[in-house]
Amino acid sequence: MTCCKCAEYEWADPQEVVYTDPEGKGYCVFHAPLYEKRISNDDFNKRVFERLRESKLFEGSGRFCDLSGVVFPQEIKFQQVGQFPKVRFNSACFEGFADFSEVDFGGFALFKETIFSQGASLSEAKFNGVAYFGKTELEIMYILT
Ligand SMILES: [Zn+2]
Repeated sequence: MTCCKCAEYEWADPQEVVYTDPEGKGYCVFHAPLYEKRISNDDFNKRVFERLRESKLFEGSGRFCDLSGVVFPQEIKFQQVGQFPKVRFNSACFEGFADFSEVDFGGFALFKETIFSQGASLSEAKFNGVAYFGKTELEIMYILT
């Protein structure tokens, strides 16, 4: 069984299931609901950073880092990733603050229908490609320049 959300968002690399809901649908660590991830929040963030770094190795092949539909359980600070690969955060949900300040987005950055429950910072972030924020829910957004 592969993750139902990896299928829904058409991930090129569907992930292993870590949680099965009462209806029998499977979820990977990235898509599992809050409190069902089976790893600590810090380890979860590390998995996200690994996924971003790995995607950089495939640049040029048309691949991008797919983080669509991901449920981020806590605050996450992206500075340590270095330059971002092309990335898709469509329909992702950030339960904690999302800190993209000073991040260098190397390619496109898609944030369609992304939910930032606790706000996000894009202060001094660099966009080198297309940045798309259609229908994104930002309750509090800090843009300081
Ligand atoms: Zn998944």
